[in-house]
Amino acid sequence: MLVVVALWVSGGGVQDLAQTGTALTSIGRLTGLVASDLLLIQVLLMARIPLVERTYGQDELARRHRWVGFSSFNLMLVHIVAITLGYAVTSSSGLWGTIVDFVVNYPGMLLAVAGTVVVVGVTITSIRAARRRLRYESWHLLHLYAYLGLGLALPHQLWAGKEFLTSAVATVFWWTLWAAAAACVLIWRVGQPLWRSLRHQLVVEEVRAENDAVTTVVMRGRMLHRLPVRAGQFFQWRFLDGPGSTRAHPYSLSAAPDGRTLRITAAHLGDGSARLASLRPGTRALFEGPYGRLHEGVRTRRKVLLMASGIGITPMRALLEELDQRPGDVTMVYRAGSEKGRILVDELSALAGRRRARLFVVTGRRASERPSWLPQHYAHIGDVEALRQFVPDVAHHDVFICGSPGWMDAAERAVIDAGVPPEHVHIERFAY
Ligand SMILES: Cc1cc2nc3c(=O)[nH]c(=O)nc-3n(C[C@H](O)[C@H](O)[C@H](O)COP(=O)(O)OP(=O)(O)OC[C@H]3O[C@@H](n4cnc5c(N)ncnc54)[C@H](O)[C@@H]3O)c2cc1C
Repeated sequence: MLVVVALWVSGGGVQDLAQTGTALTSIGRLTGLVASDLLLIQVLLMARIPLVERTYGQDELARRHRWVGFSSFNLMLVHIVAITLGYAVTSSSGLWGTIVDFVVNYPGMLLAVAGTVVVVGVTITSIRAARRRLRYESWHLLHLYAYLGLGLALPHQLWAGKEFLTSAVATVFWWTLWAAAAACVLIWRVGQPLWRSLRHQLVVEEVRAENDAVTTVVMRGRMLHRLPVRAGQFFQWRFLDGPGSTRAHPYSLSAAPDGRTLRITAAHLGDGSARLASLRPGTRALFEGPYGRLHEGVRTRRKVLLMASGIGITPMRALLEELDQRPGDVTMVYRAGSEKGRILVDELSALAGRRRARLFVVTGRRASERPSWLPQHYAHIGDVEALRQFVPDVAHHDVFICGSPGWMDAAERAVIDAGVPPEHVHIERFAY
């Protein structure tokens, strides 16, 4: 961003502010350049660059991607309005004449208009109210058109942008940025997943019903000991079982990777997750990942508290299995809505027994009076007090949390209020 602003200053951007017409075009240029820069940053945030993924985690990156996206969009609107008005002030053709002149006579502008329409569409469908009305798959497909919008907008920057045409430094900077963004997407979103899927040749080995709404799938593959994955992480999965298999779904590993198999456990929420139950042994699986920051590598303390609710138990089950621990180091609190909804409990008990970890399964309806990580029948006890009853020295723990969004917020609040510094709280959200 600093480089972009510096290039604008060195191109006479500040001096141009002295007169109305040139001031408008100058502001238009600056906002256009910053908008492009943010657009590329937006792409980079989602390019699955390993260092960036490890640092922020995908849920946080998605949040920032959204914020950067809306900022870029707003600046793009200012860019269009300011440039058009700036040219109109100094031209004899008036506002409409200038607009027509722009679109028809300036190189790359027709493509840029088409790109703008695409970006407007993508942005509107990303506004929360609109997004809620769309199926996730439809929204995601529309969202991918942002790449098209970006591609269509590029030529006008190259062919009509003052910076590009007058400054060699700016030209090199922008080309490098565009090329780096494209390379990152091709390497980490396309190349690496394809390479890993081909290398490890995952096939479904076993499909097991945990109950009538949750399925576990075990996959076998080649050279899985070479895959740099840890318990607590997740992959984007595509099972090649017929139409619709091109859509990827994220699922965490529900067992520690053992170098021969990978295992997931999924609740049937919609079409994608429900069809896991009908997978047949031998079905090929493609995958992207591993992703996620919920693993041993982020741990900073000996003692660990694993807090899970609902299907959020999957990465916690894997962590309980893999974490390096002495007897008593690890405590797991598993919150379930009902006896029927509890899953993997036998495995959890066996693991806790074997690893000398403490396991608490807290079952019951959600509290109605206040947002709480506890069930209704604990309503008389405060969230922090109850936590301290389960784990008296909770303040000295690293805490890993995964579950439904509202529950996670309540759990995180209780943990922090109980004295755990925020940097020792590690979270994975199952919804962005
Ligand atoms: C990091 C991460 C790890 C997850 N791990 C597990 C797990 O171990 N077990 C489990 O049961 N669930 C997990 N989920 C949730 C799971 O991905 C969704 O429940 C599933 O994709 C729903 O798809 P569907 O077609 O069945 O439902 P739909 O009805 O299509 O979608 C229901 C909701 O799921 C979300 N969703 C759908 N598709 C995707 C997608 N491709 N990417 C992100 N969100 C999506 C959307 O919020 C949507 O509103 C995880 C999600 C994330 C983000």
